[in-house]
Amino acid sequence: MPQSVERWVERIRSGDSRAIARAITWVEDEAPEAAALLNALRPVAGGAYRIGLTGPPGVGKSSLTDRLIRLLRGLGHRVGVVAVDPTSPFTGGALLGDRVRMVDHALDPGVFIRSMGTRGRLGGLARSTKDVLDLLDAAGYDVVIAETVGVGQSELDVVHAVDTVILALGPAGGDQVQMLKAGIMEIADIFVVNKADLPGADRTVRLIRYMVDLAHRRGWRPPVLAASASEGRGVEDLWEQILRHRTYLEESGEGRKRRLRRVEDAVWDQVLARVQGAFLQWKAARPDWERVLEEVANGRRGLEDVVDEILHSLDFSAGKAEGGVL
Ligand code: GDP
Repeated sequence: MPQSVERWVERIRSGDSRAIARAITWVEDEAPEAAALLNALRPVAGGAYRIGLTGPPGVGKSSLTDRLIRLLRGLGHRVGVVAVDPTSPFTGGALLGDRVRMVDHALDPGVFIRSMGTRGRLGGLARSTKDVLDLLDAAGYDVVIAETVGVGQSELDVVHAVDTVILALGPAGGDQVQMLKAGIMEIADIFVVNKADLPGADRTVRLIRYMVDLAHRRGWRPPVLAASASEGRGVEDLWEQILRHRTYLEESGEGRKRRLRRVEDAVWDQVLARVQGAFLQWKAARPDWERVLEEVANGRRGLEDVVDEILHSLDFSAGKAEGGVL
């Protein structure tokens, strides 16, 4: 039975985890339902605090997230997590790690965890992750966490969609810094050296503090913490620093800037999606398209000339999300 957009919005806002899971699948599949639903949900999103947790594979991001969830549940928060693993072709909570974690939190309606892999288009992953953050936000999870492997461009894009960016490293963090995409050190608001129960962590904390001090000019100075997810150490400290950063964002006006930037990103994404949709529709209605391409290939027609013609004739209302029945 098809249901109205309003009904889906209602189910998602009431925290119906099956409806949320279905909506996330639509987002992953870039199904038309996703756009309609997101447009209806975005106005009620915005209440959640968004945290990005990034870092190389194996440093303990999932373990830290798990500890954070426990802490936050104890404080009465509802927590939504989207774990992005661009190396995995699986989605929909099919990852083993997820299943293991789900066992702990499966019966808790205050926790929602979902993994996303590379299904969908290249570059689509960052967009889908942002959409899922909006969904979880609208569903009433007041803390939402995006867990990403901090090595690629899409992770850099995702961190722009959150309020506080945490970069997790292992005890041999000095070496791992090399692995990270350039620019990721600069966007970290908090550094966590995990596995502090193992040798080397103290040295890594000192090294990163030194790097932070070198780079620091003014404003927020990212704290560098030591933690041990397996022993449950340092997690309260981490949450305290997140709250301190949240206060800083509010008081400095930086939070407002980040929110506006997020809106601008969303606008830009939709502009691109509309242009793409309009172009594909236009192209499908041009039986002579191959001939035009050949003319350009043979140098008989200029590329810019073709682009001008296309831009003049595109119908940008195509691909616009519509309400109604899903
Ligand atoms: P992720 O890939 O960054 O999400 O890392 P995981 O959370 O999956 O952890 C990778 C491995 O490190 C697992 O075997 C964890 O049990 C282990 N691990 C996580 N945190 C700690 C820690 O604080 N100390 C130690 N010794 N091992 C840890």
